[in-house]
Amino acid sequence: MFDRFNRKIHYLRISVTDRCDQRCIYCRQKGENPLISQKDVLSFEEIFEVTQKAVEMGIDKVRLTGGEPLVRRDIVTLVSMLAQIEGIKDFAITTNGTTLDRFADALVKAGLQRVNISLDTLDTARYSEITRGGDIEYVLRGIEVAKKAGFSPIKINCVIQDSSKEKDAREVASFAKKNGMGVRFIRKMNIERGMFWPVDGGTGGDCERCNRLRLSSDGKIFPCLFSDLAFSVRELGAEEAVRQAVKVKPKSGLPSKHNGFNAIGG
Ligand code: SAM
Repeated sequence: MFDRFNRKIHYLRISVTDRCDQRCIYCRQKGENPLISQKDVLSFEEIFEVTQKAVEMGIDKVRLTGGEPLVRRDIVTLVSMLAQIEGIKDFAITTNGTTLDRFADALVKAGLQRVNISLDTLDTARYSEITRGGDIEYVLRGIEVAKKAGFSPIKINCVIQDSSKEKDAREVASFAKKNGMGVRFIRKMNIERGMFWPVDGGTGGDCERCNRLRLSSDGKIFPCLFSDLAFSVRELGAEEAVRQAVKVKPKSGLPSKHNGFNAIGG
């Protein structure tokens, strides 16, 4: 699929839930946004059908995200369902890693190839502050188990204030290197103000090269993280929702009012 700016669209990021076991200070938009009602959350069968249709239309890269994807009940079952879809060449997850020690083996066995783990600092107190009470030990344990489970590669997502030269970022970079993992520095973005930057070490945030669509956990295809336009797969059917999203994909992101990273998946 090509959009009107001749960008090849072949990457679908699926938010499987807007729930999360952490409350990172930069993630949600203003205050406490209402969570998506459980009755509106796509079932595994619906996610499978949308993904299958999207793959028929040209998607070959799929990432599960959230919220926190590992808090979605029976996530391993969903992974094994999606892994059956022929045509997905790259199948990954983005997680905060807090429960990865429990899930890593099962996820690899179910067919997941790659994992990105979010870690902004190695400082215990700072980690707790950023995540509003999170315990870094769970993440470090999750990383150890993920390494042994056979994900390849493992990448660290590190949100920075301004620069990858910051102390926290430098420490995360050397931790990643020591552990044979890649690192992507994501400068803090603001959806409401339309503030975003290219991801250092990744492909996100670079509008000219953007290849993505996003499926929210309540079944809307967003053409861009910074867009209030969205197309419901329940109302339009998956094919039409994907088609319309590709058709209006903006040249560049815009200030948006939607519920933030946790709602449509960062
Ligand atoms: N819960 C999972 C996690 O923590 O990786 C997946 C969802 S989270 C929304 C996905 C990524 O978005 C994480 O790496 C997170 O750090 C990043 N993120 C969240 N809010 C952000 C913001 N305001 N600016 C930049 N990155 C952000």
